[in-house]
Amino acid sequence: EEDAASHRASHRIKVTGTDLPLPIASFTDLVRLANPQPPVLRNLERLGFSDPTPIQSEAIPALSNHRDLIACAPTGSGKTLAFVIPIINSIAAMKNKGVKAVIVSPTRELATQIYEVAVQTSRGLDLSIGVVNKSLLAKLRNNNAGAKQHMDLVISTPLRLIEALKTQLLDLSTTQFLVLDEADRLLGDGFVEQTDEIVASCTNNSLVKAIFSATMPANVEDLANSIMHSAVRVIVGYKEA
Ligand code: ADP
Ligand code: MG
Repeated sequence: EEDAASHRASHRIKVTGTDLPLPIASFTDLVRLANPQPPVLRNLERLGFSDPTPIQSEAIPALSNHRDLIACAPTGSGKTLAFVIPIINSIAAMKNKGVKAVIVSPTRELATQIYEVAVQTSRGLDLSIGVVNKSLLAKLRNNNAGAKQHMDLVISTPLRLIEALKTQLLDLSTTQFLVLDEADRLLGDGFVEQTDEIVASCTNNSLVKAIFSATMPANVEDLANSIMHSAVRVIVGYKEA
């Protein structure tokens, strides 16, 4: 506990909520969390990452413990791996079919970047990861339910995801993790209704929700308050050098 307090103070991390999980200081601490996947550790090593950034040190244990999460940290502070690592570890251990995790991103470019990080992090694991775009939608449409059953993680802009849901090419009833990334941009770009619709489509009782954002404007606060249950709230107050 004392270590956690000093870690948080020295990295200017503010964490609030009940029953807070302890931060991790090193990626080797991942073995203490639920469902550590050896390939993930090896991949992080290969990518040259040894220590988590401040937002990663808090978000990874929170999501590994299946806690709803509000995470605010500056651009460039490593938010992508903060949700990709715990999601990959968790879904690699799930045996059920169907989409296990959904990441919503405001732009196609950002969705593609998240996809690349997820693919690199999950190398050596048998996961099916895709960006929802025209070609994936065509594949889902032409495929005899096979592709749909086998998507583990999907990354999408709001409009493409809504299109996939409306046409029943994707179904989020099995989804365990929903991440709204760059939430300030998502809502600032006017995707409020679409975001609500996506949240409503994730009908699983044990759904874990996470909001990642560089800033916390009132509309992001309102969204968080309306969809979260006993969330862990993490605010990192400075930019990594
Ligand atoms: P954000 O989403 O917060 O803007 P990104 O997830 O895009 O930030 O990460 C910014 C950069 O930091 C990327 O180049 C990424 O590879 C790097 N990075 C992420 N995590 C770590 C880490 N633990 N150690 C070193 N570099 C990292
Ligand atoms: Mg980001």
